[in-house]
This record gives sequence, structure tokens and C-alpha cells, in this order.
Amino acid sequence: MSANHDLPVGKIDCCQVCGSKKLYKILDLGHQPPCDSLRWPRQLDEPETIYPLRFLVCESCSLGQIDYAVAAEELFFPDYPYRSGITATLVEKLSRTAVSTLSRFAFPSGSLVLDIGSNDGTVLKAFQERGMRVLGIEATNIAKIANESGVETLQAFFNEDVATQIRTTHGPASVVAATNVFAHIASLGSIIRGVSHLLEDGGVFVTESHYVLDLLETSQYDSIYHEHLRYYSLKSLIALFKQYDFTVCDVERIDNYGGSIRVFARKGQGHQVAPSIAELLAVEEQAGLYGREVYDDFAAKVLKARQDLLALVLEAKKSGKTVIGIGCPGRASTLMNFTGLAPDLIPYIAEQSTSLKLGLFLPGLHVPIVDEKRMFEEQPDYAIMLSWHYAEPIIRKLREKGLKSKIVIPLPEVKIYED
Ligand SMILES: [Zn+2]
Repeated sequence: MSANHDLPVGKIDCCQVCGSKKLYKILDLGHQPPCDSLRWPRQLDEPETIYPLRFLVCESCSLGQIDYAVAAEELFFPDYPYRSGITATLVEKLSRTAVSTLSRFAFPSGSLVLDIGSNDGTVLKAFQERGMRVLGIEATNIAKIANESGVETLQAFFNEDVATQIRTTHGPASVVAATNVFAHIASLGSIIRGVSHLLEDGGVFVTESHYVLDLLETSQYDSIYHEHLRYYSLKSLIALFKQYDFTVCDVERIDNYGGSIRVFARKGQGHQVAPSIAELLAVEEQAGLYGREVYDDFAAKVLKARQDLLALVLEAKKSGKTVIGIGCPGRASTLMNFTGLAPDLIPYIAEQSTSLKLGLFLPGLHVPIVDEKRMFEEQPDYAIMLSWHYAEPIIRKLREKGLKSKIVIPLPEVKIYED
């Protein structure tokens, strides 16, 4: 094996997939706190750790990546405040994993489907509804919510030992899914070996990850954070799976989280490979993912978007106007911290009344997260949409609920919606 896929904590000095030292630095976002380490009021008097956050690309396999691994315990703590089932749009999107997988591969009903990082069980519910036996693996306390709602869930970090244990208790799996976690786990080698051990021959490993081409095309630097170690191209995923005796046999681009790829890798060799693979590799080549220019352009656009946003906020402030943030996904931390939007400029971030984040503070800058009722009462002059990758349906909903503020979309370039 050419690379160490079980990353130690700390500085990373070679490619996380192929081991190459040819890493090209694209963007330095400074030192930042882990984006989901929201602060409790009592923690505001305590020290807070920040870590380097730099975005690089491997010039051998085209994997986008950061060069510092923070300990998993620091990132995915038991009270992790994220619940996937919370928005109806997201529930609908997540159920497509099941539809897409089962339409490609005909597994008999009752086959076992596992989900790594299964959160509240939303993805598995869709498999369950289609006749599959399901088991979730979730490290945080959200596992309890999943169990209560009828999705059997093991509260653990997935690794080879957990895989062995599951194979003994539940038998081999036909499908293992890892949606939006496969780019986040430092112990990648242990995960893939564990998945390989669990899957029957010909079983499918379905992963969904942010797609680096979408990240570049829409200047989504705010999806760069410590939880997110790798930003896959298809080429880099093929390089990875080859090392574990999997065949990458199908791929589709999906719009989850501002642009992702769903990749199907089957255990073993000799499986049929769909034309989608060669097609997407050609798209990557044509987009310049295997050169430098596209990355330089990206960095220039990011810096411009940051300067424009800061200028808008400062200008508004100078003329006595109020500006607040709407929605606090993990990515809000990178955007706010990199732009320097402290509470003197952005006094609060408004979240839905059902959010688990209410009463907490953005890491680093300590902007309070409050119930959106306050925003509707105060009607600030400007509201910056921090979940801008889902802007349209959210804007519609906010207008229906009576928000009159001008809505600012921070990326790919700063835009203002007056109505
Ligand atoms: Zn590489």
C-alpha cells in the first residue's frame, strides 16, 4: 500500500489517498476552531483551541484535502448538534440514496443494509420502507433518537473491530452506506477494511461526499473545515478503492450539500463498470481538475467574495443599518471566521425554533444563535443567508413567514435579494 490511510492526529504532509508529496497549496483560511464546536455560555470564559485550516490538492491523484487532522473526539463529541431528519427537503434528498442504490442492484428483500454515521436514521428509514433489514452506526447521542424511532442503531465509531462484531451478530451485509461522512473520517483504512469484512462478495459500498468540482465551480470555501478532511474527485476515489480490492462501478452527481457525488464501489474485481465512470473522468479532465489554473481561479474568487461581503457589512454598519445571519450550518463557522464577522457587526444568527443549536455560540467569534422569532420581530435591514446552498426554498419560506429584510447571499458571489 502506498499511503497510510489511518491518519495520525496533527500535520499531514503527504496525500491522504495516494501518499504523494506533490501537494499544491490553494488557500489558507488561517487558524480556525472546529466548525461544529459550538460554545455553551459557560465555555465563553474558557480557552478555545484553533487549528490550521489550509486547502491543498494532490497533483498526482487530484484529491482536494486539508493538511491538519484534529482528533475525532474533538470534532464529533457526544452532543454533536446536527440532526439530518430535521428539514423536509433534506429527508427527501437522503431517501434518494436508497432509491438510487436499489434501482441499480437487485438485492432480495430482507438483505442487510448498514449506514456509517447514520445520524437519526433518516437514510436507513428509506431502505427499511423498501423491505431491507437495517442497522445504523452512529457515534453521537443522536443514536438514541434513531433507536426510539425504530431504526436499530449501535452507538459507536465504526472501525474494523465494530465490523467484526456486527458480522457476528447480524451476518454479512449487501449494502454499506456512508453519506457525508466518508470525507470526514481520519481512519479511512480501518473503515474500508471494516466495510470489506462486512460486505458479502459483490456487495456494494455507497458513499456520498462533497464533490470537489462543485466546490470549485461555486466557490464553496465555506465547506472547508476540519471535520472535512478530503474533497474527492472521481479520479482520487478510484485511486483509493483500487488499493482495497473494490471496483468503482457507477457514479452520479447529486445536489446534496451544494453538490456531491454518489459513488458505488463493489467488493472484488470483474464487476461491470457503467459508462458514467469514463464520462465523469472526462468532465474532470476538461474542467482542469488535473492542472493548477482552476484552483488559482477558485482562490481569487474566494478572496473577492470575502472582501465584498465584509465591505457590504461595514458599509451597512456605518450607515446605521442592522445585519444578522440566518441559519447556522457547520459551514457558517468557516465563512464567519474567515470574513471576521464578529458580534459587533453580526449581533446574532437566527435558527428555526426546533434547532438544537439555540442558546449556543458560534465557535471562535461567539456570535449567539437565537430563535428566529427575534428576527421576525426586529426585521433587520440585512440578513446574510449562511445556508446559501439551499437559498431558494429557504428564502421563499422566510418571505411567507413575513421576513422583510434584504437577504444577502454570500457565495459564489455576493448578491442581494430585496424581495
Ligand atoms: Zn494523491
